[in-house]
Amino acid sequence: MAEGQAKKRIAIFGSTGSIGTQALDVIRTNPDLFEVEILTAQTKDELLVEQALEFNPNAVVIGDEKKYEKVKAALASRDIKVFAGEAALEETADFDTYDIMLAAIVGFAGLKPTLKAVAKGKMVALANKETLVVAGDIVMKTALDMRAPIIPVDSEHSAIFQCLVGEARNPIEKVILTASGGPFLGKKPNFLVNVKRDHALQHPNWSMGAKITIDSATLMNKGLEMIEAKWLFNLRPEQVEVVIHPQSIIHSMVQFEDGSIKAQMGLPDMKLPIQYALGFPQRLKNDYPRLNFRKYPNLSFEEPDLKTFRNLTLAMDALVKGGNTACVLNAANEIAVWAFLKNRIGFLDITAVVEKTMERITFIEKPTLQEYFESDGEARNYAASLMKL
Ligand code: NAD
Ligand code: MG
Repeated sequence: MAEGQAKKRIAIFGSTGSIGTQALDVIRTNPDLFEVEILTAQTKDELLVEQALEFNPNAVVIGDEKKYEKVKAALASRDIKVFAGEAALEETADFDTYDIMLAAIVGFAGLKPTLKAVAKGKMVALANKETLVVAGDIVMKTALDMRAPIIPVDSEHSAIFQCLVGEARNPIEKVILTASGGPFLGKKPNFLVNVKRDHALQHPNWSMGAKITIDSATLMNKGLEMIEAKWLFNLRPEQVEVVIHPQSIIHSMVQFEDGSIKAQMGLPDMKLPIQYALGFPQRLKNDYPRLNFRKYPNLSFEEPDLKTFRNLTLAMDALVKGGNTACVLNAANEIAVWAFLKNRIGFLDITAVVEKTMERITFIEKPTLQEYFESDGEARNYAASLMKL
């Protein structure tokens, strides 16, 4: 960074999660480049306090209002504003005092604060893919109108974004999202029917939050990422392809109109796309382990098994159908994954709940933001009733 250049002030929404804590690692090792402006957490008050004491933000938000007094008392000796509750997320997202929001809340809950940042024209480093899955049209239009740059953090989309640097005038023929296949690659329904939570939580290549780990095991994650890619890169459904690549070395690819394909590669480590998004357009030097091709003599590729991992098919249907379909798919999936994590339903039931909810909820072709919220609520209620929650 040039001398005298101001540090980038970062607001981390979801600072206690897998992405949030890794982002703080990146900031910790680059104190000349970044400072922390806002930290938010839903329930982990102790970790939030620890982070606040270390990084000295201007403000913190604890989602769980019952924990407000505890957080406030723990930070009493510091000049740190403490807020609580859902509305405080939008209020702090509206602050002028940060430069980049790292949107690292999981699920639909990330939509409102992220949209607020976009509507203010802030740069958003986007990990929360559900924001685009639910309301991609509104979020991208707002970003365009407000000239708010959205830099993807999801590794596949970061890969595509990196492949597109310098290619502004060259149309994309298609993007190829790679998928590890998750812990149950090659398994069939007669195996999956008995899968339990703890087994599904063990991902072969990535260590992530619980929800996205289950989504990776069901391949819903890849389906959500297809929809995310459509919105981020302005693609038609048929321009988004998925290939299973169990080694997770190629993070994704772009094919251009001359048939040439660019890929972005590296060891699977989320700190890389996080660092790329926060440092953009600069690449920051680091000492993370380097990829040694000799240790990977076989990079392999195969078709996803759409008959077994039907969540991916359902997400592809939503990608093609548009309107509120992906919003409904996402809501039903969030509830079903939650129920699976509580051992209330089986692994294959997740797909059944999503499918039935998609059949039930009324299709809206061009929803308003309000209608997206209503569709989300209806889908959650219906999915919960199916599971007798
Ligand atoms: P996580 O569960 O580890 O962390 C989630 C964070 O969001 C926590 O800080 C939590 O306090 C907060 N949060 C949870 N529910 C909330 C609510 N209702 N309101 C406000 N805050 C809430 O999740 P994660 O794995 O870090 O994933 C975060 C997002 O990034 C997800 O959208 C995920 O799909 C995406 N993502 C994650 C990874 C990864 O490697 N973990 C990779 C790519 C994309
Ligand atoms: Mg991903």
